Amino acid sequence: MQSILIANRGEIAVRIIRTCRDMGIKAVAIYSEADINSMHIKLADKSICIGPPEPSKSYLDIPKVMSAIEVSGAEAVHPGYGFLSENPKFSEIVRASRKVFIGPSPETLELIGDKVRAKEVAHKVGLPLVPGSDGPVDVHNALEVASKIGYPVVIKAAAGGGGRGIRVVNNDKELREKFHLAMQEAEVAFGDGRLYIEKYLINPKHIEFQVLVDKYGNVLTLGERECSIQRRHQKLIEEAPSPALTEEKRKEMEVLVAEFCKEIGYEGAGTVEFLMDWEGNFYFMEMNGRIQVEHPVTEMVYGIDLVEWQIRVARGERIDFKRPARRGYAIELRINAEDPKTFLPSPGRVEELYLPGGFGVRVDTHIYCGYSVPPFYDSLLAKLICWGHTREEAVKRAIRALEEFYLAGNGLKTNIDFHKRILSSREFQQGKHHIRFVEELMF
Ligand code: ADP
Repeated sequence: MQSILIANRGEIAVRIIRTCRDMGIKAVAIYSEADINSMHIKLADKSICIGPPEPSKSYLDIPKVMSAIEVSGAEAVHPGYGFLSENPKFSEIVRASRKVFIGPSPETLELIGDKVRAKEVAHKVGLPLVPGSDGPVDVHNALEVASKIGYPVVIKAAAGGGGRGIRVVNNDKELREKFHLAMQEAEVAFGDGRLYIEKYLINPKHIEFQVLVDKYGNVLTLGERECSIQRRHQKLIEEAPSPALTEEKRKEMEVLVAEFCKEIGYEGAGTVEFLMDWEGNFYFMEMNGRIQVEHPVTEMVYGIDLVEWQIRVARGERIDFKRPARRGYAIELRINAEDPKTFLPSPGRVEELYLPGGFGVRVDTHIYCGYSVPPFYDSLLAKLICWGHTREEAVKRAIRALEEFYLAGNGLKTNIDFHKRILSSREFQQGKHHIRFVEELMF
């Protein structure tokens, strides 16, 4: 494989370009008119403008991305996360054009993208599910199921993703009121109005397992990440390993996760997501068929470049090695351009910047002094990843690194101080945090 086109932007495009260069592969960047000054263009070997700022007219526009692949002569495409990364149609078109899609097959993406079908397979291999409807429901079924499992329940979109399309309801009245709204929204956001409902678990932890699967069915499981620090059901802090898991439970879950991957014929890097209650019971939520934002914490503790292995398995290499031993603890903090009080995006220009460093500190970012954060995309500015021999050391180092992190900008607000508050809290330090911790800390 001589050259790869990266169908993405921001920090993940930079991240992927770096690995391409490490592997001696040429990297082709695409960009929208709003990203003309973006770092990923500066680092790539070649770059192609694919349209105006709106994602639907650039990064999500399949014909434009396909033309860029053709024009550049790239043999493969790495979709990153978000945008077209889990779009079965895109994966199909890439394959039909005799190019390599660095990710799962269209059939697999189709299956795991349908959360209802994914849950059926999970159930078949013995993964426990959150009690709920067996499939998509209308409002009458939903009321029936809710009376059986008890409130609160969550309404979810079968085609949902990224924490969007999730609604918590506490009684019949709320369920009736919110159901139609949720359906309309799911129709608009995902082009699929099907909904299902689940028991709303009280203050669980979010635990997800990383896998890497080659074309020959060899599954490498790489432990778990805990992503319980979230706001609006979206992750803010992730860590590996989870302080709440025993080695025994980890092994048990890894066996089930590997079986799930085999059952669906998975290929590439992927993540199987669960909620875990305080008795240590796991509940399958979904599988994500792409590289995750939080993949670096796994890389830090297993000493493996996941993007490199995505590329290797996509070009047909075998996973014929033993899993590297896990070492220490890693924590990732998502530094966002957002108001820490309202969580609303706060785009602007980076005027002054000093990035932290030193032993055990990694920063993945596309920002630099003078860079303007465009208002069209997500608010992620940088990922700060810190490693330690113990969890305590990793947390301390993360606080030290946050104190060094200096970013001043015109109109820009960040959540750097907010991260310090979370890391300094006793609950977090003792590993007792759960998915509603941020809300409880704030109010
Ligand atoms: P998405 O695909 O949109 O990311 P998920 O199903 O993965 O949606 O859920 C995202 C987050 O929403 C979870 O990490 C958790 O915080 C919350 N959540 C989802 N389902 C439940 C549930 N049944 N009970 C409590 N919280 C839930």
